[in-house]
Amino acid sequence: MKIHDLDCPGFECVRHGTDEDTGLNAFIAIHDTTLGPALGGLRIWPYADEEAGLRDVLRLAEGMTYKSAIAKTGLGGGKAVIVGDPAKVRRPETLQAMGRLIDSLEGRYITAEDVNCRIEDLREVRKTTRFVTGLSREEGGSGNPGPFTAHGCYLGIKATLEHRLGDPSCKGRHIAVQGAGTVATYLIDALLEDGARVTACDIAEDRVERLRARHPQVTFVPPDAIYDVECDVFAPCALGAVINDDTLPRLRCAIVAGSANNQLATVAHGAMLREKGILYAPDYIINAGGIINVGCELLPGGYDEEAARRHIEEIPLALKSTFELAAEKGIPSAEAALEIARGILEAARATQR
Ligand code: NAD
Repeated sequence: MKIHDLDCPGFECVRHGTDEDTGLNAFIAIHDTTLGPALGGLRIWPYADEEAGLRDVLRLAEGMTYKSAIAKTGLGGGKAVIVGDPAKVRRPETLQAMGRLIDSLEGRYITAEDVNCRIEDLREVRKTTRFVTGLSREEGGSGNPGPFTAHGCYLGIKATLEHRLGDPSCKGRHIAVQGAGTVATYLIDALLEDGARVTACDIAEDRVERLRARHPQVTFVPPDAIYDVECDVFAPCALGAVINDDTLPRLRCAIVAGSANNQLATVAHGAMLREKGILYAPDYIINAGGIINVGCELLPGGYDEEAARRHIEEIPLALKSTFELAAEKGIPSAEAALEIARGILEAARATQR
């Protein structure tokens, strides 16, 4: 395998690995390890070219630094991507080569699941490196992070309701959930249990049918109509960049709070939400349940579900501090979140000097 490090300002290490024998073409970006080893998932995506893969890994790795800083996981930020068609790349030999690339960083980067990388893929990666989290409970891992992400998201929605509408209860609140996937399903379970009225959508008909069978009381709308639903909370739980120039003018909610990563198309959209009087729960704070859970695998005594749950219960506090800073400074909540994350890193660097 050919391995070489790229010089990317602001990043501790960006490693590119290519392997002719197995077809591996991958990047690992370590953004910041001030707070601990960099943990972030492995994404497999058919990027248009290497440049696109590199841009994505840098953006995602930096995001992981801020997510972990605010969630106090004791981890740094990093991410890995394999550039290639998942149908071709998800082969044992390619994934084992990926494991060797991860292993070359000697634990400064620890991997986990991400888009197109499932537990069976991690099992292959694990054959050539021990720096893997997110395997099943039977294998000593923490298992599916979805229910933990959903739990943090539910608690975060309550904290956001309290700040914006003065009452954390979901009783009688109307919540529009975009997506009916893993996190959305567990989130909807909790919202209904707490008395919310839920409208949902998904582009995949089988997901809609599965959720309809589980909760007949949920109202479904076509995917594009979710932005027009008059509701208290719009909860994006599908894709990123859903708050953009086209959708923002259509929103008729008081709050945007959901699990999707990178919900804002640009930072300007955070300011535009604020101008519209919509309170935004920064995505990397409210969706940190998954990283908190997987991070608990690295605790000295090994994974402890109770410890993970207690830690996830701190997500509302992190949101509260963010909303308070945003109000005090008159800035969008997304900007306040970044300021808090950078402040945590600065303080840690100062004590290490
Ligand atoms: P998932 O793949 O199980 O669910 C996503 C769902 O969104 C799918 O059912 C898909 O059909 C649907 N979808 C895609 N485009 C859509 C559209 N335009 N309109 C409506 N539905 C659409 O994924 P998940 O694990 O539930 O994750 C959901 C989101 O939360 C993702 O953005 C993910 O990155 C983020 N997230 C997940 C976790 C986790 O623990 N799984 C942790 C942090 C963040």
